Amino acid sequence: MKETRSDRPKAVALLSGGLDSTLAILVLLRQGIDVKAITFLTHFGCDISDSSSCSRNPMPAAEKFGFEVKLCHLADKFMEIVKNPKYGHGKNMNPCIDCRILMLKEAKTYMDLIGADFLVTGEVLGQRPMSQRGECFPMIDREAGVEGLVLRPLSAKLLPPTIPEQKGLVDRERLYDFKGRTRKPQMALAEELGLDDYPSPAGGCLLTDPTYSYRLKDLLTYNPDPDLREIHLLRVGRHFRTSPTCKIIVGRNKADNEQILSFASSDDVLMKVDGVGSPVTIITGTPTEDDIMVAASMTARYSDAKRQPRVKVTIFSLNGKRGTVETIPIEDSLLEKYRIVSKEQPKKRRRYRKSKKSVQVQA
Ligand code: SF4
Repeated sequence: MKETRSDRPKAVALLSGGLDSTLAILVLLRQGIDVKAITFLTHFGCDISDSSSCSRNPMPAAEKFGFEVKLCHLADKFMEIVKNPKYGHGKNMNPCIDCRILMLKEAKTYMDLIGADFLVTGEVLGQRPMSQRGECFPMIDREAGVEGLVLRPLSAKLLPPTIPEQKGLVDRERLYDFKGRTRKPQMALAEELGLDDYPSPAGGCLLTDPTYSYRLKDLLTYNPDPDLREIHLLRVGRHFRTSPTCKIIVGRNKADNEQILSFASSDDVLMKVDGVGSPVTIITGTPTEDDIMVAASMTARYSDAKRQPRVKVTIFSLNGKRGTVETIPIEDSLLEKYRIVSKEQPKKRRRYRKSKKSVQVQA
């Protein structure tokens, strides 16, 4: 059922939870526009409850400044554009142009549903190489079927007037002319508008992470139609491929081990070394006897028993113990042969880091 409209102009704003999209909303609220925000979720974003993420919980700003946020998971629609983006991938597996088109299409559907007048994004001209070049905006809007309807308040003065500006729903004079990668104007505006708690700009989208992207590419090469469990496992542990049909994932720490166990299905082969600090290892695909022995030697290598000449590795599934094998910890040179990582990627980038600024996946 369509909502009944108030006299105030109404807009649907795409909200990532980052600084720019929040500012875009605040700029319009200041003009008396009724703004409803929509936050899109994908399998490749961070958990919005993770405060180090750029797509973190958008609610604090919504609560503080009094606007509604609707959450919308793009699920399979997003997976399709990751696999086959019409406009290609960016530097990694990020299909940014197709992603923007999809989000605008979905936002337009919501706009029509609630009887809003236009759409709003926090995009800044020239800030990102792929989707925020000047010539990209009209093309993206055209492809999404929202030509003239997308107001980008932070760069509006550098762009042709949109329909809401032409109709006088929005005062163009009170919009901005930000451009480029500098964040200083946004930070000054945030201070002016009383927005004091906002995340750092670096990515919450795992598709921009080189290690994660390489793993995803590997997965899609050997399984073009992966299930959700395989997608979720990409962000956990160390990844090795022993054959087109077998992948081994070894936990790095307690959190990884718990996640591996939570993603495992009852058929999956799991491993650990009992009695010492040990990773949990999961084998996905259809492992041979040789694959199982390689996985056992990897589990031994990453356990606290790695200096012992022979290590007993327990094989189990969620249904219980299946047996024990005795193995020698795998040599590092062999380990590297199986590791799923771009050989061009500098070693420094392959190390695990999870800082406040970005989420990076360890190889
Ligand atoms: S970085 Fe990820 S979420 Fe952001 S536009 Fe690109 S694909 Fe979409």
